Amino acid sequence: MNIQMVDLVNQYKKIKPEIDEAIQRVLDSGQFVLGRIVTEFEEASANYLGVKHAIGCASGTDALQVAMMALGIQPGDEIITTPFTFVATTETIVLLGAKPVYVDIEPKTFNIAPELIERAITRKTKAIIPVHLYGQPADMDPIMTIARKHGLPVIEDTAQAMGSEYKGKKVGGIGTMGAISFFPSKNLGACGDAGMVVTNDTDLAEKVRMIIIHGSRVRYEHEILGVNSRLDSIQAAVLNVKLKYLDRWHEARRIAAQRYNRLFENVGIETPYEAPFGKHIYHQYTVRVKDRDRVSRNLAERRIPHAIYYPIPLHRQEAFRAAGRPMGSFPATEKAAEEVLSLPMHTELTEEQQSFIASALIQDVSSRHAAAL
Ligand SMILES: *Cc1c(COP(=O)(O)O)cnc(C)c1O
Repeated sequence: MNIQMVDLVNQYKKIKPEIDEAIQRVLDSGQFVLGRIVTEFEEASANYLGVKHAIGCASGTDALQVAMMALGIQPGDEIITTPFTFVATTETIVLLGAKPVYVDIEPKTFNIAPELIERAITRKTKAIIPVHLYGQPADMDPIMTIARKHGLPVIEDTAQAMGSEYKGKKVGGIGTMGAISFFPSKNLGACGDAGMVVTNDTDLAEKVRMIIIHGSRVRYEHEILGVNSRLDSIQAAVLNVKLKYLDRWHEARRIAAQRYNRLFENVGIETPYEAPFGKHIYHQYTVRVKDRDRVSRNLAERRIPHAIYYPIPLHRQEAFRAAGRPMGSFPATEKAAEEVLSLPMHTELTEEQQSFIASALIQDVSSRHAAAL
C-alpha cells in the first residue's frame, strides 16, 4: 500500500485550479516579494487568528529570531524554553548570543510544564518561549500568569499549531508574540519556505516590519539592526488559497486521529492525550511505545512511514554545547525522546491506510506485549 507521512501531492490535486491561478496571477504581476498579495494574506491571517498584526517573513525560524530581535534580546540574556522541540527554537536563541534555559515537559502533552518555569527565572531571564508541540497548545494561562508576575514577554512557537485553540482562543495571539511556520509539511504549508510573526502590540509589529527589511522604514535609512526575511508573493498567494481550507483540514486530521485512537484501544500503545483546555489540530499523531527503536525498525521493514520527533533532546545537542551547560535535569523529556513515534497524519489519509498502519504496529507491539507477560 502506498502511504505517505504527509501527502502534499494529493492535497494539491484537489485545489489545483485555484492554486495554479493564484501563482499565475503573481507571475503576471511581476511583483515577487511583498506587495498586495502579501498584505492580503497578512490581513486574512490576522483575522483568522484574532490578532491585530500579522507580518509575513521568510520562515518559521526567522519568525522566532525576528520576534526576539524586536524584543531587544541581547547577548547574555536567558530565554526559558523546552528542550523537547525542533532545533529552530533553541538555534535562534543561540544565534542572538542568548542562552537557552530549559524547563522539562509535562509527560502527557509533551509541552513545557508551567509549574517548573518559575524556579528557572533569574535576573537575566528576558523571555519565555513555549512551543505548541504536535499541534496541541501549551497550558498558556499559568505561563502568562508567571510571565506577568515577572514582567517577561512570551513568544509562542506556533510553528506546528496555526489554528490550534487554547480555551477557545487561537494560539499565537495569547502571548506577547507568536511565531508561525508555513514550511510545506506544516498544517498550513507553502510551496517553499515561509513564516509569520503575529502580535497585538503595535510597537512590536512596527519593529518586526522594519527588522525583516534590513531595519528600515524608508529605503536606505536603517534605524535598527535588521535581516532580509521578506515573504515571497508566490508563497503568500498559495497560502491565501490554502488558509480557506485550514479549518476543514483540521477536522479531517481530528477525524483521522479519532480513528487511530479507536484502532489502538487496549493494545499497549499510548495514544495522544488531548488536554481539556485545548483543541489539538494533530500536526502530528504521536504515540508512545516501549522498545521504540525496534518498533521503528520493524515498521521500516514493512515500508510503513513514521518519524521520531525528536530523538535527541536539545540539551544534548552538540551544536549548543558552547552556549553553556544546561542547568537541571529533564527526565520527562528524556523519556519522551525514547518512546515517541509519529504515524502518518495528513488531510488525505484514508480509513484503509490507517487500518493497515495500525495492524502492522499492533502486531509488533502486542506480540512483544504477550511475550513479556
Ligand atoms: C518547523 C518548526 C520551526 C521552524 O520553522 P521553519 O519554517 O522550518 O523555519 C520552529 N519551531 C518548531 C517547533 C517547528 O516545528
